[in-house]
Amino acid sequence: MLGECHAHIIMNGKNYKEAVALHKDGVREEVIRAHFRTWKEMGITFVRDGGDALGVSRRAKALALEYGIDYRTPIFAIHKKGHYGGIVGHAFSDLKEYHSLVLRAKKEGADFIKIMISGIMSFDAFGVLTEEGLPEHEIYEMIRIAHGEGMAVMAHGNGDRQVRAAIEAGLDTLEHGNYLEQDTLDQLARSRTIWIPTLSPTGNLLGCGRFPDAQVRRILERQMEGISYAFEKGAVIGLGSDSGAYLVPHGQGLLDEYEWMIKAVGKDRETALQKRLEEAENRIKKEMKQ
Ligand SMILES: [Zn+2]
Repeated sequence: MLGECHAHIIMNGKNYKEAVALHKDGVREEVIRAHFRTWKEMGITFVRDGGDALGVSRRAKALALEYGIDYRTPIFAIHKKGHYGGIVGHAFSDLKEYHSLVLRAKKEGADFIKIMISGIMSFDAFGVLTEEGLPEHEIYEMIRIAHGEGMAVMAHGNGDRQVRAAIEAGLDTLEHGNYLEQDTLDQLARSRTIWIPTLSPTGNLLGCGRFPDAQVRRILERQMEGISYAFEKGAVIGLGSDSGAYLVPHGQGLLDEYEWMIKAVGKDRETALQKRLEEAENRIKKEMKQ
């Protein structure tokens, strides 16, 4: 069974605010344990989290082995003040503060550093991101600083410009990566960066009624085409469902992600796909540990 390379144990796949509020007055261990049980029952033995600001992921790290799960976490994600990312971590206003947060994560036991370099998709309008994202030089410095501290980097990134800068800086894993142009996909395939395209948070919205299906489908198909192209070019692509996100339950999300991924690359390439996903997971296991 393949592992889950992108999860949020603090979230529940239904209602983000309610899920987070549960831990407001201290981490509720039983909530974490329920998610671990689900993964264990499904035979999922590797989970990589995106971190959170309330210490939920940090506690999870201490419990995971009881369930036979190899659980990796950045403890919290790091975002620039006033930009996307407040829901999963701590903010910096300049690179000195960023560096301190990197050191803090490392001290708190982070396996890698998670950074936010862009917004997310506006699901009611194809091609639109909730914000433009950080300037290239800042993205470059953020990755350089984390690497300088001996930490691998997981970056939440959508949009061509931001992602291109991150790959050029030697990013370890790219999360989401919607709206990449062909040049950038070529660059990705030539680079050492592993891509976790997370189709489920988009695909699972189809038919739910929260957003116009036509827009959601365009976003999904755009990402699937990018995956198919990058796969053919030899990019290392991994399986991560963003479980915990809306309509992406822990456990089931990973099965959904696999199905979406097969739709993207084609059933006839399933064996090759599996091999590629395993390669990505093995590299993450090896490279993303403090
Ligand atoms: Zn995520």
